[in-house]
Amino acid sequence: MLSIKSDANMSEADFNTMITAIKEVFPPDNTMPTDYYHHRKTMNELGLPVVKIDACKNGCMLYWKHDATTVSCKFCDEPRYKQIKGGRRLLNNHTHKRIAQAILRYLPLTPRLQRLYASNAATTHMTWHATHERNEGVMQHPSDVEAWKHFNRTFLDFAEETRNIRLGFCADSFAPHGQFGRTYLCWPVVVTPYNLPPEEKGAVFLCNLEKIFPPAFFDSMEHLVVHLPYEARIGGPVQYRWMYPFERFHQELKKTLKNKAHVEGSICQAYIAQEINIFTEHYFEPHIEYRRRRLRRNDEGVANDIFPPFSIFNYIGRAQDRPKISWLLENELHVAHTYILRNCPKVQPYYKIFVNYLQGNPTDAIDKAIDKHFAKWFESFVANEINQVTVPLLQSLAWGPSKKATTWPGYFINGYNFHTITHGMEKATMNSGVCVQGTNVDDSSTDFYGLLEDIVQLEYHGSRWNHVVLFECTWFDPINGTKVHPIYKLVDINRKRIYPKYDPFVLA
Ligand SMILES: [Zn+2]
Repeated sequence: MLSIKSDANMSEADFNTMITAIKEVFPPDNTMPTDYYHHRKTMNELGLPVVKIDACKNGCMLYWKHDATTVSCKFCDEPRYKQIKGGRRLLNNHTHKRIAQAILRYLPLTPRLQRLYASNAATTHMTWHATHERNEGVMQHPSDVEAWKHFNRTFLDFAEETRNIRLGFCADSFAPHGQFGRTYLCWPVVVTPYNLPPEEKGAVFLCNLEKIFPPAFFDSMEHLVVHLPYEARIGGPVQYRWMYPFERFHQELKKTLKNKAHVEGSICQAYIAQEINIFTEHYFEPHIEYRRRRLRRNDEGVANDIFPPFSIFNYIGRAQDRPKISWLLENELHVAHTYILRNCPKVQPYYKIFVNYLQGNPTDAIDKAIDKHFAKWFESFVANEINQVTVPLLQSLAWGPSKKATTWPGYFINGYNFHTITHGMEKATMNSGVCVQGTNVDDSSTDFYGLLEDIVQLEYHGSRWNHVVLFECTWFDPINGTKVHPIYKLVDINRKRIYPKYDPFVLA
């Protein structure tokens, strides 16, 4: 229940209303706690400590260690505690709790780092910075670059123990009351471990696309280019040092603010609740859904396992927006159909037979013959009873798709959200870049880069409709239009060099 409250950023009052409703449907002797306060009480044991340290209202000092008992600021003389009306009564009543003018909330680091090691995966990742393979001339993590190495040379003892934790530190402020509210700033100080390995492959792939189709914000940041190469050489890849994750984190903190009279306390309490949730979720049964386990917005769900051998009919994408009917031209249909046949694993044996007939001819003549005649040949091969091709899906593939196709302006697949160029034209983010791995997987210079023109679903007849979704793209010439930097693997696209062959389709 607390996890739901935290994920939905629900207020205490809303939570209590929900609890009351749920308790009412339960049998009367249920032991569910009655409200938020009692829920929290049962969980508090699991929480990590928070230390409150009184501070000077003007930010001069902390009442800590040997200043723990001081009652006014050593620098500006501001009293430590709030002055309460009827102060005399206060003197008589020593048990009255005095309230500090400002409080710093410290979430002790050590127990939190210890908790990182509660997960096996995190434990192995924490020494990754020292154990990962390094490629000369490539930097993928701050541990590959000068600042880190200099630190290791300077603090030999620390560097020797690879389990030691290196932290990134960020201090910035945000205005909890919004831009037009009171001029009050909240200053969270955030540290993050640097030991962990870089992003997953998918994210790197996305970055590759962003390098070619830079997001609009780069325009206003051109001056950065001057500083970036130097900074990157010293400090490592920029994503480890930039502020965006922290700015986003501040935004998240701001959203959790419920009690505007006690900004830090309110945010801190929400943060602790979140911490408890993340920790306890490790112990949830697999069928329980919570935010971090839920599929990402752009994910498409699971593959349909009715036709597993026919992988091309077993696509896992999800279309978005309104579908349109479109009629394919003869040539479009032929090229799309040939492409599908060539990419269907079950057709491969027949494809080999066809290519065998052509052995001895020059390669480009074979390619041309495949493009032109394979679909027709496959159709007659399957139709010929002597060949005994009886699998219904192979038969419907051989007949070819219907001229009538369905198109969409957008599609979710592989965790990405794709838009056609026209659909994405007026949007702030560009989602129409497509990259297809070339024949040589290790060599990115054979990759194809293109723009998504249309999302087409072809339909093959049969006992039921068999759908295949294709992306129709304009490709840039991979030989004359694409340059890959030999060391940094940055891809430079010459957008005037369009791939000359008409071969626009690729499986979504
Ligand atoms: Zn002061």
